[in-house]
Amino acid sequence: MIAAAEQKAATLVEALPYIRRFAGKTVVVKYGGNALAGTSEHDALALFAEDVVLMRLVGMRPVVVHGGGPQISDLMSRLGKQAEFVDGLRVTDAETVDIVRMVLKGHVNPRLVAAINVHGNFAVGVSGVDAGLIRARPRDARLGFVGDVTEIDPAVIHGLIADEFIPVIATIGSDEHGQAFNINADTVAGAIAEALDAEKLVYLTDVEGLRRRVDDPASLVRQVTADELAAMIADGTIAGGMIPKAESCIRAVGHGVHRAHILDGRIAHVLLLEIFTDAGVGTMVVGTDGTTDPPGEPAGRTTTPDQGGEGAP
Ligand code: ADP
Ligand code: MG
Repeated sequence: MIAAAEQKAATLVEALPYIRRFAGKTVVVKYGGNALAGTSEHDALALFAEDVVLMRLVGMRPVVVHGGGPQISDLMSRLGKQAEFVDGLRVTDAETVDIVRMVLKGHVNPRLVAAINVHGNFAVGVSGVDAGLIRARPRDARLGFVGDVTEIDPAVIHGLIADEFIPVIATIGSDEHGQAFNINADTVAGAIAEALDAEKLVYLTDVEGLRRRVDDPASLVRQVTADELAAMIADGTIAGGMIPKAESCIRAVGHGVHRAHILDGRIAHVLLLEIFTDAGVGTMVVGTDGTTDPPGEPAGRTTTPDQGGEGAP
């Protein structure tokens, strides 16, 4: 009994330096559609919501970005529409972009918002169309209304954060004519982390992290630099849905985001484990020189628990 209680106290004490270090810091979390889709979908969502609320209650500023690929495919098949992919990207005709909007802003987004708000009135759902948050242009004529991000206007997010809300962002963007585009949620999460000058960018996905060999779960890469990531994309080690995550991690750590993480969204409370304990789970991406500590950091930064706590070997 006492040992168990001591263990609990030790866990809380272990969290203290992390709570201090991350107070007031923005953390962008991308919640994958696959992480949402599993059989225990409801539980996964509830656990995720607890983590985000806890982060917020100890003074961090979580921002949630979500996808919804499996949910979009599901509604399309129920409507008798065949999903079609070119180079891993969904071909999005006018009807499909309507379906994407319905699923992301009408189904996935309010479910995340509701799960978080079980714990208090924290979450506000927005899409990239709101207040011009995500400006987009077509990526490739063959893909229809699949967009690339041209600009992020984070004003609405800054406002929500200042009012202590947790923004939950559906990744639809619009062009200057008001045409909606379906935009890859990984790419949006990275662009938003950059625009917000976030401390961390975190991808929750359906594998333990980045694998050296895609079929071998034991080949988890615990820490990787932006350059190493680029090489792994070039040599085909990184494929499919991992590519936009890796590309966004490279960009983000090169543009002021301190750390990026690829974590297993199937692990209960994986966010808490990564952020508030010494465990260091999944893959951590650092800048090319092995650090992205911005200049002018107070001396002693390198001795903070951050070194051992974020997956350092
Ligand atoms: P999400 O919904 O999280 O975006 P994705 O399916 O788009 O999920 O991306 C994650 C997938 O990327 C993994 O399930 C895996 O199949 C694939 N993948 C490709 N290359 C790698 C790699 N080197 N390491 C880990 N996963 C990889
Ligand atoms: Mg994906």
